[in-house]
Amino acid sequence: MDKVSLLKNSLSRMKIRCDDRQVGKLIAFQELLMEKNKYLNLIGPADSESIIRRHILDSVSPLSRSHDPDWYGPGLSILDIGSGGGLPGIPLGILLKNTEVTLVEKTRKKTEFLSHSLEVLSLDNITVLTGRAEELARDEKLREGFSVVVARAVAKINILLELSIPFCSINGKIIFYKSKKVFSEIGASGYAINTLGGRIEDLIEVEVSGLEEFRALLVINKVKSTPMKFPRKFSQIKKRPLKAI
Ligand code: SAM
Repeated sequence: MDKVSLLKNSLSRMKIRCDDRQVGKLIAFQELLMEKNKYLNLIGPADSESIIRRHILDSVSPLSRSHDPDWYGPGLSILDIGSGGGLPGIPLGILLKNTEVTLVEKTRKKTEFLSHSLEVLSLDNITVLTGRAEELARDEKLREGFSVVVARAVAKINILLELSIPFCSINGKIIFYKSKKVFSEIGASGYAINTLGGRIEDLIEVEVSGLEEFRALLVINKVKSTPMKFPRKFSQIKKRPLKAI
């Protein structure tokens, strides 16, 4: 099957809307990823089909539940933490063309790839920031400034919570893309979620067309402001992740 049919059929099976222009951009992004992966190690070894299934379709899998959050509604702003090669932020930004998406990534050579991709694909709704999440979260223009914060394959839940929850606005959602490791990682995270102003809302198993592996979305609701002492420096977060004593 050619790439266009693979992508269109899979998105249709996942009940995700797209038009031909968006499919064209997703394919062009897959090609950019594959070309630069050799030099930048953005996604590990991968051929076209595995990039489409394992990375692009996986990235847009939350859209198959279009009601919560209301992905297609007005006023949504998405932050992707540790975006690497633009996952999940770029595929989300392609399919949600009227939504502002911000990509945060600490490695400059990766953000150069991201900026180049946005230019080649004419993605005016996506912005790139080079920096560490725990430092950018202290910027008052960014702190509690996004209605949806996403992260995929960045760190264990106990570390990721402190990097992500401060960016989310009250009543917004934090969504972690997780493998089956979610079950072992989630155990001791209740105290940290509560301390940072969140509440676990759901753990949703998602179907990615053509992918056999277990995929889940951990959804956290932001219910109150994050205390200003968080996030701490990364060395502290790593050494002493938040947990009840
Ligand atoms: N999200 C992408 C994906 O799903 O393919 C990239 C995953 S990669 C394993 C993790 C990325 O997070 C790396 O590019 C790394 O540089 C970035 N990262 C790790 N810690 C970070 C931090 N504190 N702030 C910003 N970026 C970070």
